[in-house]
Amino acid sequence: MNPAGWRFPLPDEGRVSELAKLFCAELRAPFVIYLRGDLGAGKTTFARSLIHALGYPGRVKSPTYGLLESYDTGNLHVLHLDPYRIGDPAELDYLALRDLYDKDSVLLIEWPERGEGFLPAPDLIMSFGEVQERRFVHFFSNTPLGENLSRTVQQASIAL
Ligand code: ADP
Ligand code: MG
Repeated sequence: MNPAGWRFPLPDEGRVSELAKLFCAELRAPFVIYLRGDLGAGKTTFARSLIHALGYPGRVKSPTYGLLESYDTGNLHVLHLDPYRIGDPAELDYLALRDLYDKDSVLLIEWPERGEGFLPAPDLIMSFGEVQERRFVHFFSNTPLGENLSRTVQQASIAL
């Protein structure tokens, strides 16, 4: 586990796509990623890039209104969740999330703090932010699986 994590600059959306490509080369299901950060920080943009990098060719819309979107890519089933607009985390119970995901699933969860107590624990936390108009993402792993992926992506990102 690596509570200090590491940081990757995201100066433009092209960089987000490059990061997503590194990711999908290493990503194995089941895996849970929390996408943290303020409105506009780049959570949906990363999720969209990752889903496309995994091979899904169609439109990837923000789940802010629909709460949950799901995609079948090559071998993975991606669930993209955004509980931002729900009033109470307990509303997530109606989704029966546990029945929707299995060993082939990757969960991408924006605003996980809005679903606290009703979401699976993350393997990896990606925290999107901006300092002096420079965008970045900070990686924190929460399980050995998450630490593995985080380290591999960090190593590969050096070559970008
Ligand atoms: P969030 O889901 O965190 O609210 P979005 O992913 O919807 O944020 O991004 C908000 C806006 O910022 C979008 O217009 C998106 O195109 C832009 N954006 C996201 N990431 C980057 C980036 N790394 N560089 C430049 N613009 C970005
Ligand atoms: Mg969003």
